[in-house]
Amino acid sequence: MTHSLIDTLRSRLGPAHVLTAETDIAPHLAETRGLYRGTALAVVRPRDTAEVAVAVAACAAARVPVVAHGGNTGLVGGGVPFGGVVISLARLDRVRAVDPLDATITVEAGCVLANVQAAAEAAGMLFPLSLASEGSCRIGGNLATNAGGTAVLAYGNARELTLGLEVVLADGQVWNGLRALRKDNSGYDLKNLFVGSEGTLGIITAAVLRLHPRPVSKATAFLGLPSARAALDAFGALRERLGPRLTAFEYVPRFPLEVVLRHLPGAVRPLAGDHAAYALVELSSPAPDAPEELEARLGELIEAGLAEDAVLAQSEAQGTALWRLRESLSEMQGHEGGSIKHDVSVPVSRVAEFLDRAGAACEAALPGVRVCAFGHFGDGNIHFNLTQPVGAEKAAFLAEWPRFNRIVHDIVHGMDGSIAAEHGVGLIKRDELPRYKDPVALDLMRRLKGALDPLGILNPGKVLAGEDGPEAFPVKAPGPVTAARSGTAA
Ligand code: ZN
Repeated sequence: MTHSLIDTLRSRLGPAHVLTAETDIAPHLAETRGLYRGTALAVVRPRDTAEVAVAVAACAAARVPVVAHGGNTGLVGGGVPFGGVVISLARLDRVRAVDPLDATITVEAGCVLANVQAAAEAAGMLFPLSLASEGSCRIGGNLATNAGGTAVLAYGNARELTLGLEVVLADGQVWNGLRALRKDNSGYDLKNLFVGSEGTLGIITAAVLRLHPRPVSKATAFLGLPSARAALDAFGALRERLGPRLTAFEYVPRFPLEVVLRHLPGAVRPLAGDHAAYALVELSSPAPDAPEELEARLGELIEAGLAEDAVLAQSEAQGTALWRLRESLSEMQGHEGGSIKHDVSVPVSRVAEFLDRAGAACEAALPGVRVCAFGHFGDGNIHFNLTQPVGAEKAAFLAEWPRFNRIVHDIVHGMDGSIAAEHGVGLIKRDELPRYKDPVALDLMRRLKGALDPLGILNPGKVLAGEDGPEAFPVKAPGPVTAARSGTAA
């Protein structure tokens, strides 16, 4: 059956676009952090939506799973295949239309995020979605994971930027929902079933996205703060004065900043003094007044005792250098040894309390552990990472991941937060979800999955363990994954 499926795919997509050689498919089996490694029968590279539909229909007929891949930059193992066929959307990379009056851009799923931003800019508009991997991640993956990033504060997640979708369904049908409407109450909001579904309900092949006016001026500043609580008060004060012009409030405590300054080539200490915490603040204005406006607000914060010091970037290059400190955090953390990572959110009003409580609990659980928590403070989204104690053994430290999950996730749950904020569930959070997600919500998710993917071929084993339970797709701990379900293994 497997051979006839590969033959079918070769005849329909062309032999050059059905890859089965080990070296060709290897990049699609690994994921960014090296935590998991999957298996696949083949990687197919369709050139358009019709060919994606053909590939899915052929796999459905053979009862073989499919996993859609964009840039394969995900952080939760959501793209790791358990056997089956990987559908790479890299060749669906056309910008179909830009319409300044509608303020929309219509793009195919394989467009690299930076290219979507550039196409919007060329039309004098802004596509605000922005994240560290924007040079290689693809918009289909951004939508399938409802990606967040550094501009959520003012512009929302990928979901808020989506007006319409084109989706290949589990049986190979194509749903054309490429509408550019700001209002459409003609029934259920189907597009939002697929945004954030991590490829488990359908494969997004194109989207109509919302554009925004480009700001006329921007200003960036770095604040030195006495505590997380002061950061929260400073954020509240800035948002009250600036409203939607406050486009970033990123939080960086002392330890992560020291890590970046130690390891990032060319990094310069942004403030002369030493502070318990720091914030990167950005103001975007429809008038040319951003620098003056931000300078005035920073003065107020210092006068009120909420900030100890602040520096305003005096040039675009200085602003870029400040952003580079923030954007390098995740990568630079790797130089300090093993990292146990949590991507969590709590209500913004409780983010300082969360940082204090979770930090104290982790330090008590493992003396010497170095809390490396930073992130999108203004969204209540913290990358609550833990760096191994100095001199500890990396593998032994990483083996503590489940214990720290329990500590951190219990605190998040107790504060009405989410254990999966902007990276998704994938494999890494899948078996945590039933512990924390409302059982009625989980049941609705399973019913939707059953209705949209009755054969269970769309990215099986991700988000939900599936009807056969976690044993069919075991992920006891980060490591190799295997498909136990018959007929799906390579
Ligand atoms: Zn982030």
